[in-house]
Parts: sequence; C-alpha cells; structure tokens
Amino acid sequence: MKHVIALDVGGTGMKAALVAQDGSVLFEARRPTGREHGPDAVVATILDFAADLAQEGRTRFGAAPLAAGVAVPGTIDEKNGIAVFSANLGWRDLPMRKLLGERLGGIPVALGHDVRSGGLAEGRIGAGQGVSRFLFIALGTGIAGAIGIDGAIEAGAHGYGGEIGHVVVRPGGPQCGCGARGCLETLASASAVSRAWAEASGDPEADAAACASAVDAGDPRALAVWQNAVDALADGIVLAQSLLDPSTVIVGGGLAEAGDTLFTPLRAAVTERLTFQMPPKVVPAMLKDTAASLGAGLLAWDLLSMEVTA
Ligand SMILES: [Zn+2]
Repeated sequence: MKHVIALDVGGTGMKAALVAQDGSVLFEARRPTGREHGPDAVVATILDFAADLAQEGRTRFGAAPLAAGVAVPGTIDEKNGIAVFSANLGWRDLPMRKLLGERLGGIPVALGHDVRSGGLAEGRIGAGQGVSRFLFIALGTGIAGAIGIDGAIEAGAHGYGGEIGHVVVRPGGPQCGCGARGCLETLASASAVSRAWAEASGDPEADAAACASAVDAGDPRALAVWQNAVDALADGIVLAQSLLDPSTVIVGGGLAEAGDTLFTPLRAAVTERLTFQMPPKVVPAMLKDTAASLGAGLLAWDLLSMEVTA
C-alpha cells in the first residue's frame, strides 16, 4: 500500500505514523526525543527514527514510503527545509530536509512547523473539516496559532504568521519570554493558569487541571483565576476575528482538555465582546496530540501531488 512517513518532533517525545493517501493511519510509533543528550544527538535520533519507519513500511507493505513529512518546533524556513532555531531542542540553521532526504534514499521530504502542521490537520481532517477559514489556537506551555485558508496554512512572510500568543492583550502586564509585556500567553496558556492558581491556592504544585476541577467545584478563588484567563483569551480571539474573520476558532492544547469548563465561559466572553463582527464557532480540537504528526503526513502527500501536477 502507498504510504508516507509522518513525524512530529516535540520537546520530550516524537510521534510518528505511516499514513495512507486517504489520511488513514497504517502504523504508529513513539520515541523519546532525548534532548538531554544535546542537539546533535537529537538530530541523530530523528534520522534513525525516520529510517526505522521507512524499514517498517517496506516490511509491512512491500514498498518504501513515497515521501516524508516532519513537523518541528521553533522557527522554520519551510521553503528551504531548514529548522532555523529551536530554543527547546538547541539547534540553529539545521538543514533538516536535506539530512532526512539523504538518510531516506532521496525521497521527497516536507518540513513543517509543529503548530501549523497541527492546525493543517485540524482544518482538513479534524474539528475544522469542511471549513475554509479557521483559526487554530493551542493553549499549552505557551500559546501558538495557525491561520487556515482554503485547506492550507498561512505562514506569513517570515514564518511567524498566526502567533496569537504574542498579541498584547494587557499592556504593561506580565513579562513575556518574547520581551514584551502582557502577551496573551502570559495570561491564558496552561502554564500561566497553573502559575496563577498555584499562587491563589497557596499550593505550589497546583496546575491548570487542578484549577479547572476547583472551578467545577465552585471555588471562588479558582473562578477568579479562570475568568481572568478566559477574558484574556476572548480579547485575543476577538482581535483575530476583526483581522481575519474566520468562521471557526479551534482551540486545542492542555487547557482545552477542561472541555465545557473552558468553552462555555469562553463562548460567552467572545460573544459579549463582538460589535459588528460575525461570531465564530468556538470548538475544541479533535485530534489531540496526534494533530502535528497527521499534519506532517498531509504535507508529505501535498508534496507528492505538487510533483505530479508540476
Ligand atoms: Zn510575548
């Protein structure tokens, strides 16, 4: 059976799959990224994993994968296949596409950004299926986003399109890792909620999930922390709505695991803020932690279809 390699490289773990043309997953595997061994070892681990996946494909389906798609974090030059920078994995100007192509016997390789790949998958085969304009927001350690237009993701001129986590929603607010103050991710990421709830509850181990449980139990301190994050997120979404006018906003990442505890007040807060804008549907992501890997598979298939039409 015709298949491609799909690989998502995360800070701690890698998720991979062999994916058929209709998007169905034929084989899945996970492996630690091993970043504690340094950037060179991480690259070697990625290349070994990809080579093992290719072998798996040959064994199972009697033919090598036709292409590979790899999603990585940080700053990516998608056009030239270069992983420009990742603070998390410690690399700079890594020619990832070339290295993988060489290791995989010259098959075409697509390099994608992890969040944009995840957004692509949510838009095409997940929560945004059939929607031509969507915004994907991932609420994790930070906040990242992807702008979906007609089945593709708008990366921007420099690869920074969709960075809704660094929209300033509280001028002069908390210091952000990017250097600015009051960025959305300092207020509404899973880490921000964890920090705020640890402080409010007096339990240094308390996290965002514990905050959501306390909200469900009616704890007024948790409600205040939660609403603060929801309000910031709604401000960010309304700003995006004014600029991009998506029909659907897909919210994923750790904080979205809270389900209705997040989505009910979030929808209300967005609606309350709209004036002339049409309300977007605010929906949970569907593909969970496999989104970026599935998106990498879509990128690989897209590459093959481009080669056919070129
Ligand atoms: Zn920032």
